[in-house]
Amino acid sequence: MQLVASKRAQNAKDISPSIYAALVDSLFTNPVPMLAGAICTTVAAILTAYKTGNVLLWPCAGAIILIGAARSLDMHFYLRRKVRLKPSEATYWEVRYQIGAVLYAAAQGVWCAVTLLGSDDPVAHLLCTTVTIGHIAAGSGRAYGRPWIFHLQILLACGPMSVALALHGDPYYISIAILNGVFFYGLKFIAERLQRMFVTALLASEREAALANRFDTALNNMPHGLCMFDADRHLLVMNNRFSEMMRLSPDLVASSTLASDVISASVATGSIPPTDALALVAGIEQSRKTEIITLQPSGGGQERALSWTFQPMPGGGTVVLLEDITDRRNAAARINHMARFDELTGLPNRVSFRDEIERLLSDDDGQRATGALLFIDLDQFKQVNDTLGHPTGDRLLCMVADRLREILRRDDFVARFGGDEFVVFQRDITSKENAADLARRIVDRLSERYQIDHHLVEIGASIGIVMTSPTDRSADTLLKNADMALYRAKADGRGTFCFFREEMAETVEARRMLELDLRHALAHEEFELYFQPLVNLKSGKISTCETLLRWNHPERGAVSPADIIPVAEEMGLIADLGRWILRKACMECMNWPDNVRVAVNFSPHQFHQRDVLTEVRYALEVSGLPANRLEIEITESALLRNTEWVHDVLVKLANAGVRISLDDFGTGYSSLSYLHNFPLHKVKIDRSFLEDLHSDRPLTLLRGVARLSAELGMSVVVEGIETSKQLELVAADGTVTEAQGFLFSPPVPALQLRKLLSASHGRHDLAKGIGAGSQPSRSMA
Ligand code: C2E
Ligand code: CA
Ligand code: CA
Repeated sequence: MQLVASKRAQNAKDISPSIYAALVDSLFTNPVPMLAGAICTTVAAILTAYKTGNVLLWPCAGAIILIGAARSLDMHFYLRRKVRLKPSEATYWEVRYQIGAVLYAAAQGVWCAVTLLGSDDPVAHLLCTTVTIGHIAAGSGRAYGRPWIFHLQILLACGPMSVALALHGDPYYISIAILNGVFFYGLKFIAERLQRMFVTALLASEREAALANRFDTALNNMPHGLCMFDADRHLLVMNNRFSEMMRLSPDLVASSTLASDVISASVATGSIPPTDALALVAGIEQSRKTEIITLQPSGGGQERALSWTFQPMPGGGTVVLLEDITDRRNAAARINHMARFDELTGLPNRVSFRDEIERLLSDDDGQRATGALLFIDLDQFKQVNDTLGHPTGDRLLCMVADRLREILRRDDFVARFGGDEFVVFQRDITSKENAADLARRIVDRLSERYQIDHHLVEIGASIGIVMTSPTDRSADTLLKNADMALYRAKADGRGTFCFFREEMAETVEARRMLELDLRHALAHEEFELYFQPLVNLKSGKISTCETLLRWNHPERGAVSPADIIPVAEEMGLIADLGRWILRKACMECMNWPDNVRVAVNFSPHQFHQRDVLTEVRYALEVSGLPANRLEIEITESALLRNTEWVHDVLVKLANAGVRISLDDFGTGYSSLSYLHNFPLHKVKIDRSFLEDLHSDRPLTLLRGVARLSAELGMSVVVEGIETSKQLELVAADGTVTEAQGFLFSPPVPALQLRKLLSASHGRHDLAKGIGAGSQPSRSMA
């Protein structure tokens, strides 16, 4: 019993419960040989009892019959269950089998021993030994599943037989007993080998089943639909995802449906459009590595996009992978849209405009009518943004986009280039006049008022136009040229349009060179400061000297500050340049008599820098110049922008003692309100006032402004006085306090000015001294 228990334990440890159950099951799988064996043994037992007349053999035959019948019945019960043996039931059935087998073997053993020892009948001996050996031999093919039961059977049936043969005493019987021993030992090995083979086969099938199971799980849990067709186009495998996506019944696999039928069924369920069916069937049948994308309307204007990939299999046949790429396609389309369209206005952006124009130009064989590219820039858009805020600016841009869409024909193409720049491509026009006409309409329409919330907003538009030419068909060149024309349009005064001309390109190139030179000049201090005196008309003495920038370029010669300053402003160099001028000027002023001031021109850009106050303080500090000897000249355009901020800075400067002059008065808006609202000390009336002095109007105007300024406590300067006649007229009524111009002195280098100053302050009457004497030479470039 201990042996049995340990064997069981070992079995349970070595093999899985399912294999154990299969082994137990194998004991019951051969009912016919067992029944045949039982019948043979019964007949043989009866025959031996009858032949020998040994009464003891009758109970043996009876036991064999009874146990055999019970075992057959047991087997019948087992087979009647008709279900697979569960591991939990295996031990129960094993024990039942074992009891039957052990009892039967014991009955057989006793029968053999009684027959062999109780008679000398050779027939009976032959019967019992052959039948028992045969039965046991056959048992190896039935009970190999549990070898230890078989070993017990050998021991119980053949043990007594062999002992009885040996006890018989006859040397031949003894030999048979020994041979039997060897034979049974061999049988034991055969049974064990059979069991190992059986277990190996069971393990293999179990592994295969596990593999199939795993494969099935993977197949049915993958995000792709998958199906597999054999070389004859029959459906072999179809995963759940595929049947779900195509809304097909999974049973199609069982009925090994043809590829064409699978596709037709998918069309029938409305999962793919009928138009794609042929291509899909061909994809499966041709078994080439390809991809097909099907698009099926899925309601709400949406489309479901499916990607079908066909992959040939090594032995023929095709694997079809099905993927729902709707989201991916939508995301890609969205990204593409974002990359090609302006989010705010919904118009195409620079990238898509460029591509589209490039395409239009290359499609056009040159025979067709020309086109025009209009580069539009909004005027005063920045002011709207600054004053009313970005949301209003955004709304304005959308309204501009709408107006442009309205004006244009379907064939024309409009894009937003970012900021307040729009570009229109006008197609198939016959003449420049068509483009001019469109430009005019755009300027007019965009200049109409916009109602945004409670605000009425007015802006303008400037347009640069370039006509396509048969020789140059690059979108970039067109854009570059239109941009140059726009630049000119803006320079000509906003709210207008301008066609591109070749000279513009040259101007731009020249400007580019100037930019390079300017950087170099600033880095190497190639600039020089000239000074031009302002003369007090009462005392005749130099009261102030205006600092004027000079640049003597080795090749360019003398470059006018009127050319330098705007370029420096655009390049962002003005801050550095302005700082240099301011410091230099303050230091130079320290060489002059104490009652002579220095005036420094401030560009509007420079003025809007955040640290303008610090700059001024620092320049005064390093030079040691008292603040009241510095005058800052600003133009109206500096006052125009960011009024509050400018006002604050001016007040702070004035409080620090610095004097402020309003330069070029009369050229801009000439708003008298500035004179009143800003802390100004001086108004400089532009020399354009002097141009028409013989007619009365300007003079009256000049005198009016001068009187008003004087009344507001400001001194008045008239610039550009070149003749004594002009001086006489200007000075006549006594309101103009100072004068500046070639009549007194042109702008001169610092050293020359120092001489002039010592002369003026020595002689006391420069106005008369210079003005009445020789005409000053125009020494400036
Ligand atoms: P602006 O401030 O009005 O300077 C006066 C300009 O008139 C100077 O030209 C001067 O040479 C010229 N001028 C003076 N008297 C007469 C005259 O009797 N007849 C004529 N026809 N012209 C006269 P310039 O030096 O060429 O300067 C041109 C402009 O460049 C200046 O106009 C000023 O706006 C700007 N600028 C010059 N230097 C600087 C500077 O250092 N900083 C800044 N921001 N701008 C400067
Ligand atoms: Ca000036
Ligand atoms: Ca001026």
